[in-house]
Amino acid sequence: MQDSQQKDLIQRDRARLWHPYAPASPDLPLWEVEAADGVRLRLRGEDGTRHEVTDAMSSWWSVIHGYRHPVLDAAAKRQLDTFSHVMFGGLTHAPAVELAERLVAMAPAAPGGPGLERVFLADSGSVAVEVALKLAVQFQTAARRPRRQRFLSLRGGYHGDTFAAMGVCDPVDGMHSAFPGLLAGNLFGPRPPAAASATPEAVQAWADGVAELAAANAAELAAIVVEPVLQGAGGMHAYPAQCLTVLREVADRHGLLLIFDEIATGFGRTGELFAAGHAGVVPDIMCVGKALTGGYLTLAAMLCTAEVASAVSASQAGALLHGPTFMGNPLACAVANASLGIIENGRWRADVARIGTGLASGLAPALELGAVRDVRTIGAVGVIELHDAVDVTAVTAAAIRRGVWVRPFRNLIYTMPPYISTATDIAQITAGMTAAVAEVHEARVERVPAYTGSAS
Ligand code: PMP
Repeated sequence: MQDSQQKDLIQRDRARLWHPYAPASPDLPLWEVEAADGVRLRLRGEDGTRHEVTDAMSSWWSVIHGYRHPVLDAAAKRQLDTFSHVMFGGLTHAPAVELAERLVAMAPAAPGGPGLERVFLADSGSVAVEVALKLAVQFQTAARRPRRQRFLSLRGGYHGDTFAAMGVCDPVDGMHSAFPGLLAGNLFGPRPPAAASATPEAVQAWADGVAELAAANAAELAAIVVEPVLQGAGGMHAYPAQCLTVLREVADRHGLLLIFDEIATGFGRTGELFAAGHAGVVPDIMCVGKALTGGYLTLAAMLCTAEVASAVSASQAGALLHGPTFMGNPLACAVANASLGIIENGRWRADVARIGTGLASGLAPALELGAVRDVRTIGAVGVIELHDAVDVTAVTAAAIRRGVWVRPFRNLIYTMPPYISTATDIAQITAGMTAAVAEVHEARVERVPAYTGSAS
């Protein structure tokens, strides 16, 4: 494509499209992706310059096996030659059945006991959360507790952009203030202490806070909903797995369901197949998405126990009240099966551990920077937290000049690289992130004192 046409493309985008969390026609840089292969993206800027960058984001944490993976490409092509979509009402197909069986086999389960046995296929993470919340309310109604229509979640949590999901996101950082009439009603426990610095006393104080809130409001609560072990979009905040055990006990004590939103954490990202595995806790309901199709197509799933499924099915409603047009899309399910097939070979565990080690050592020098408040890693997640908000435009550009694609938010520059990233890729990502922070933010730091050791 000629440079003039290239300019046209970005101008045409600006004239017609919305981008995530952006105004119409944002005055912010936009890059065209010309090609994507393995861990690399070929970007072309508005001025026609090309950059080959290493993807530190896995396209919002989804492309765990890299772009144009031969196994995933082949699965998509095979299904395309069979059929791409059929409705799921009254019909079924092999990709959906196979996917449900795989998910159930992988899902957290008590040793020798029941796990999550029933699967609802949804179009996106947010929709999976909506379905989980509906199911919890329907379960309580089925149990003759129709007043239980509220949820207990945690400060710092993020669960999606649709209304019910927004309603369980952090009330300050979420969108509650923009939609005050629509998002009231839920309860928020304190944010759990940071994993790196949590003392037994801090965990106990947190547990007491959650237990009190649940005890005081149990008659109106349907479920507890949390992102296990790592709060992602709410701040890349890792917390002790022990907190999940506390939540399980609190839920059981008061007849609440426990919902784990594993949309960001699922499929190995935190070092366990599901983050629930860090504590050996089995939730009643679990949501997965993002990496489910290796980032190829939009698909998510809600899994629940046989007990919850049969109670709702036997209730007066007689059904789980949800059914989207593209439910169980065969193309997406076929690619998900291929992606989970790669996960099933188990190599992800060594890859995530290896990447985690590389991230920890590669990001450590960032702690020397005055602008940096904290550096932390969990699994294949690496985070640089600044004292102040990131200059997203400048840091993104500085990282691109060093061959790295990052998308910072708030005061965080983080990476969740594809599992296929090599040691060299990780070294490039961590060096690029650190150098971009130094270039953009270090010059602005007046306070300069070294890192004080405070966690987030
Ligand atoms: N839950 C969590 C934990 C997430 O990280 C996200 C997406 N960032 C969602 C839900 C929403 O998923 P989606 O964007 O696919 O609707």
